[in-house]
Amino acid sequence: MSCATRVGWISLLCLSCGVSAPGQTSARLQTFDTELALEAGPSAPRLTALGVPGQPKWENRASEVLIASAEVSNKPTPLHWTFNRGASQISEQRVAFIYDCASPHLRLTWEWRTRQAYGPIEHQIRIENLDNQEIWIPMQDSLAFNWQVDPHTPLEHLFVEKGANTPSPVGTHQVALAEGYRWTGTSSTYGDLRDNEPREIIPWSLVQRKDAAQTGWYAGIEFSGRTRISMAREKDSLQVAIGLNPDPGPFRTRLAPGEVFETPVVFLGGFRDGPDGAGNVLRRWVRAVLGNPETWKNPNYPLVVNNSWGGGMDVNEEIALRMIRDSAELGVDMFHIDAGWFRGVGDWYPNPRKFPHGLAVIADDAHKHGLKFGLWVDWTQAGLSTEPGALNARDPKVRDWMVTDLPADWKPEPFKGQTIDLGVPEAKRWAQHEVERIVTDYHLDMLEHDGYLVAHGCDRTDHPHAAPDPLNKCVYKSWGAYWVDSSNSTDVSYHAVRAYYDIYSKLRQDHPGLLFEVCNDGGRMVDFGSASHGDYFSITDTYDPLSNRRAFYDTSHVLPAAMLESYVEKWPTPRIENFRYMLRSGMMGWLTVMTDTNAWSPQQHAEAKKGIDLYKKELRPLIRDAHLYHVSPRPDGVHWDGIEYWDSDRQRGVVYAFRGTVEGERTHSYALQGLQPSDRYLLKFYDHSAPDRTVTGRELMASGLKVVLSLPNSSELIFIESGAH
Ligand SMILES: [Zn+2]
Repeated sequence: MSCATRVGWISLLCLSCGVSAPGQTSARLQTFDTELALEAGPSAPRLTALGVPGQPKWENRASEVLIASAEVSNKPTPLHWTFNRGASQISEQRVAFIYDCASPHLRLTWEWRTRQAYGPIEHQIRIENLDNQEIWIPMQDSLAFNWQVDPHTPLEHLFVEKGANTPSPVGTHQVALAEGYRWTGTSSTYGDLRDNEPREIIPWSLVQRKDAAQTGWYAGIEFSGRTRISMAREKDSLQVAIGLNPDPGPFRTRLAPGEVFETPVVFLGGFRDGPDGAGNVLRRWVRAVLGNPETWKNPNYPLVVNNSWGGGMDVNEEIALRMIRDSAELGVDMFHIDAGWFRGVGDWYPNPRKFPHGLAVIADDAHKHGLKFGLWVDWTQAGLSTEPGALNARDPKVRDWMVTDLPADWKPEPFKGQTIDLGVPEAKRWAQHEVERIVTDYHLDMLEHDGYLVAHGCDRTDHPHAAPDPLNKCVYKSWGAYWVDSSNSTDVSYHAVRAYYDIYSKLRQDHPGLLFEVCNDGGRMVDFGSASHGDYFSITDTYDPLSNRRAFYDTSHVLPAAMLESYVEKWPTPRIENFRYMLRSGMMGWLTVMTDTNAWSPQQHAEAKKGIDLYKKELRPLIRDAHLYHVSPRPDGVHWDGIEYWDSDRQRGVVYAFRGTVEGERTHSYALQGLQPSDRYLLKFYDHSAPDRTVTGRELMASGLKVVLSLPNSSELIFIESGAH
């Protein structure tokens, strides 16, 4: 048994459709950054080329590999796909090539969509069972291609790890993609469960040519289930596969009559000006296409939060009311009760000893103080509470929803229990009803989910997903819960994640303006599927200044900074400069304070209040809208690091400068980006570490912005304004 187990853009969309050969149809989709040539062959479609305007094309020599067989009545049956020209559709923003299989009767839709006039183009394959019997199909990749590459052209691969648990020493990998390169990156709902597994990536990858224009392509996956991206370069070929994770295999999934299998949506985009050039387009695209318009409409997004976890599980009414008072005094936007408020795991009712008057009164008090109210709930976890309404693991009904049978001696941990499989329709209904009740009864403005929320392995043979392989199955205990890995793991996660998305889509529809924090034990569920169903991410579970900056540095390559939450915890700050450094390390995206602010000295308290005011007035607009540049190597805590924001519309920006621990390293120069060489810029050093001065863009981008800080673990904010006015 193996256990390896901006608005105002002119539409640049264009289209050409013509017959290139009998039975063949070609089409083109284009955005400002990305040109795709598509072709429908007689038995398979093909992405023929990806272009970045004005640059050499990436030519693909392989047709899409469509699944070649299916199981019908337990018998393997070959599939013969034929292009259905009449049913296919080509419009300005969408191409859908249809392929039919006569027996068994299946229809495959190979679809590409532009969602904005800029940025990447989305792709998905759907397979519909038009037969009158159940059909089992193997794994269909979302997208596979084989670029023809010049063996002598140097290429570079960039990928980013999740900050799961704690950011790794590397985090952002920028590696030579040379002859013989073979790489697979994986993502799931629960990064790095076991120590011997490679770290999970945010499901995205970028490949660039090492030339002056720094152009290339990137691809990402809009799905939180078990997915992978793989790459192999050999001679004149670069093979890439993007989609669900085929390991451990063999993957199979059930298609009932009328049912549709949908591959995870992927996006493919071209870029220029290196990873930050790509990121500045992708981040804006994620906001416009995947983000919730209701959320972004609020000018106070991203919010400043005060979270009760600084005091751990001990939270109670008195602490909560005191925190609300101080939050209002500090100018915080939301008060957030973390774990510890409930009667028990699975028993999501306020603990009467801690909250004798319930939670709604706490929410109402927060509202009276002008704050929103958020709550932590691990809503798919069963425990042992026998109170009415609790999700009890011993209840025969609930037992049938869980991913495996539990031994008689099993007990939940203080805030972790055993996951139910949301892919089971009854379990999904219970969860939908439960989260609706929690949001309504406790007057929530924000719901945070945490823990092992979505199953990615299951032992059951009677759930909608495929049964596990009894000869290749691993059941193990970790973090107080039981886990399963087998050949069906990817199918389990496919069903469970789709159910989770349905639950949140409905919740969002029923409660406009409700915010969702995606947590999963800190940074484990950071992907483009959760970006389209949640509003912000906990990006790591380690909250010291360096870890916060590292996780932000990594994640901000691909996701809007406003969505990236840093928790600022208690950290040694003998001097006020260290205190500012600590706060600012968590102020580059979404700021959540997670320490007892009542324990701060009057000086620290005043400093935090000033910092929060600055965040809301000056930093937040840039975090929402500005371009972001990684103007230093990844933070190591020893040397200097920094991040630049520049908003060319407002002609305003800021550089966050952080000095590390090396004695004597008092100065650093940041080569800035995105400015106009001939323009003049006014620099304002917020802490007055230097007098204000006006310099040219050329100087800031070539010689750099020089900053002097005399103390280790200190910081400065340098605001940049156009000097033209
Ligand atoms: Zn299951």
